Amino acid sequence: MTELAPGTVYSQAPRCAECAGRALLVEQAATALVEESLGRLTARRCPHGDGWHVHDPVTETASQ
Ligand SMILES: [Zn+2]
Repeated sequence: MTELAPGTVYSQAPRCAECAGRALLVEQAATALVEESLGRLTARRCPHGDGWHVHDPVTETASQ
């Protein structure tokens, strides 16, 4: 079984309704996305469930 690319993992991940439909990831997948983004993204544990979300601080500043 081959390992899925981080982007594929993200697009296939279940969505978290409490977090505006963000992809709900396992910690390993979230960390892989952060590494692939070269630090542009940050990983944060979901406050509502057992999983992790990745955030883009640049594009999300305006909506917070
Ligand atoms: Zn969430």
